[in-house]
Amino acid sequence: MPIQVTLISHSEDPIRSLYLAYRVCYSALTPQQVIARVDDERITHEAMREFVEERLKTGHGSPLEQVWFEFGISGVSRAFSHQFVRHRVGISFEQQSQRYVTYKGGEFPYTVPATVVKAGMQDRMDALFDKVGALYEEMVAAGIPAEDARFLLPNATNTNFKITVNFQSLLHICDLRLCTRAQWEFRKVAALMRSAVMKVCPEIGRFLQPKCGELRLGYCDESEKDWAACPIGRVRPHKDALFRLYDAHRRGELAPLRDEDWATIAAEEGAGA
Ligand SMILES: Cc1cc2nc3c(=O)[nH]c(=O)nc-3n(C[C@H](O)[C@H](O)[C@H](O)COP(=O)(O)OP(=O)(O)OC[C@H]3O[C@@H](n4cnc5c(N)ncnc54)[C@H](O)[C@@H]3O)c2cc1C
Repeated sequence: MPIQVTLISHSEDPIRSLYLAYRVCYSALTPQQVIARVDDERITHEAMREFVEERLKTGHGSPLEQVWFEFGISGVSRAFSHQFVRHRVGISFEQQSQRYVTYKGGEFPYTVPATVVKAGMQDRMDALFDKVGALYEEMVAAGIPAEDARFLLPNATNTNFKITVNFQSLLHICDLRLCTRAQWEFRKVAALMRSAVMKVCPEIGRFLQPKCGELRLGYCDESEKDWAACPIGRVRPHKDALFRLYDAHRRGELAPLRDEDWATIAAEEGAGA
């Protein structure tokens, strides 16, 4: 079953909501006066976008909680869902129940990771799950409730969600789950949520990045070993490198520019061509 992420609904005008939320903090005007200026276009969409974008570069995060997105998510595994529901703040989950939903004929949908397919082991996984499904069916037929028969089911079993998440929480989830250290399913779901937001509000959707993105931290704060193993590490500095640079600068240990560096700087344009 393929992973599907659908943006069902969202704050009507995210930029307008964010502008109002931030502007109220920094203005002598009342929210009513601010919104009147928005409605009669004394404040344009472009001005609001620019203002919001500048605020997004700061640590003032609570106004971002005022914009929300609703998603339908299907075809994910229970291995994914265990991780997903660990997010505790600014997100509400409804998940398909294995108590109230009984799999008919012992047929439960599940995910086969690409690594298993690549290793040529999908047939064995399918065969094992066929046996699991058959025993599940037998248990249900024997009167064992679905909530107990499900003890047989694997992490691979598919599940569905309806969630509502605010923008602050979605930024945090993308910080962590677009990172190459996150599990592949979670990266895929986060990437699909990002592309859905990009379609309706690219002005804020582009801030949904892994934490090392140029609109987020801009550097990697994972271990140096993980950073070295990450393909994105090649274009992102590790935080320890930044601190080492800063400390060397403070101690006056930065290598001085050499004569040849100055020669490069002073070289005439086109010289030697
Ligand atoms: C790469 C990776 C590997 C992981 N490995 C494991 C693992 O091996 N085992 C495991 O158990 N989990 C693991 N996790 C899950 C992780 O521990 C968190 O449960 C998960 O990231 C969600 O929590 P959060 O604090 O990031 O976000 P949220 O719960 O969404 O919280 C959002 C923000 O609010 C803050 N916050 C939330 N609640 C509180 C509180 N009570 N007090 C103070 N601040 C709070 C958080 O610090 C965070 O900044 C892993 C996560 C990642 C990304």
